[in-house]
Amino acid sequence: MDNGTRHITLLGSTGSIGQSSLEAVRNSGGRFKVAALAANKKVELLKRQILEFRPEIAAVADDKSADELRRWVKADGISGVNVLSADQGVCEAAAYEKSDFVISAIVGAVGLRPTLAAIKAGKNVGLANKETLVMAGTVVMEEAKKYNVKILPVDSEHSAIFQCIDGRPRNHIRRLILTASGGPFFGRRKDALTSVTASDALRHPSWSMGNKITIDSATLMNKGLEVIEAYHLFGLPADSIDVVIHPQSIVHSLIELVDGSLLAQLSVPDMKGPIAYALSYPDRMEGAIKRLSLEEISTLTFHKPDTEAFHCLALAYEALKSGGTMPAALNAANEELVYMFLKGVINFTQIPVIIEEVMMRHNVTEARLEAVFEADRWAREVVQTLQPARGGGR
Ligand code: MG
Repeated sequence: MDNGTRHITLLGSTGSIGQSSLEAVRNSGGRFKVAALAANKKVELLKRQILEFRPEIAAVADDKSADELRRWVKADGISGVNVLSADQGVCEAAAYEKSDFVISAIVGAVGLRPTLAAIKAGKNVGLANKETLVMAGTVVMEEAKKYNVKILPVDSEHSAIFQCIDGRPRNHIRRLILTASGGPFFGRRKDALTSVTASDALRHPSWSMGNKITIDSATLMNKGLEVIEAYHLFGLPADSIDVVIHPQSIVHSLIELVDGSLLAQLSVPDMKGPIAYALSYPDRMEGAIKRLSLEEISTLTFHKPDTEAFHCLALAYEALKSGGTMPAALNAANEELVYMFLKGVINFTQIPVIIEEVMMRHNVTEARLEAVFEADRWAREVVQTLQPARGGGR
């Protein structure tokens, strides 16, 4: 609490959310200081971040990249930064004693262990890594309670819901409504999706994000994962969490109260908004994002999602209803398949087909941590065995 400066650890600093978080720190007028950064292997960007933000710890998940960073630190005489490596190093960064707050923005299942390390070290967490809750939401929320840690959502929809709930008692809330942009293929029928390419799918109409989440937006799996995330964060049952397509991405989500009132949070689509709110909560960061002109927007539209063309959304609801390790299996299969699609190994419409097959084969067990990691490993392996028979070029 020295002079009100908050020390933060940023996991996933070279990704899209990581870079936006550093921009928020840069614009905070010294309110925040970066204590630790963790990245995977974008070493050149990490070097620039180290020079600008001067963290005491830089953790690099990829071993070779960590060696490269160590050589650079030594050769250039960069002082005061301790380079850590591998998953262990990232977890140490997450638990770094000097840090007050951890932003968890690593992409994918690998974000789970460091997020748990931060919670067990008693750090409040700004959570952008939704896979953490999708895979092991029950364990994560239990640990957060046990260590008296706040989980502040950095996902824009969940930040919106969190702001709408704003301390309201649970028995006032009837329903959560997550908005989805619909992605670049909104309005297309199932048969028009077979031939879409990775570069078509990466052209997101309203949000600028990393590749994994942009593909997830195009399949609507992102929204499915967000339904599971909302279930764990806010404690409402699956049938009280709805999804509506809202192509303008201005209404970031809504809650419905028992008397029929709807409350929504609106702003320009910019991840710096949810990041700034998680960082400054319960305070507000002045001028965090551009102001919204309603006259310029003029029209907001809402549509029912087409779960036949975008079957991933239906599969995520099914996984949530099956419970246990099923969401972890769904998530792992999806992760593998998204990277295969990006490499051109499978086509777009095979993603839900193969996920469904993995789900059919999965034996659900209780979602304790080791079982979750086992389901994750198992699902990736099954995808690899299924893929040659079903994929094999386009
Ligand atoms: Mg989101």
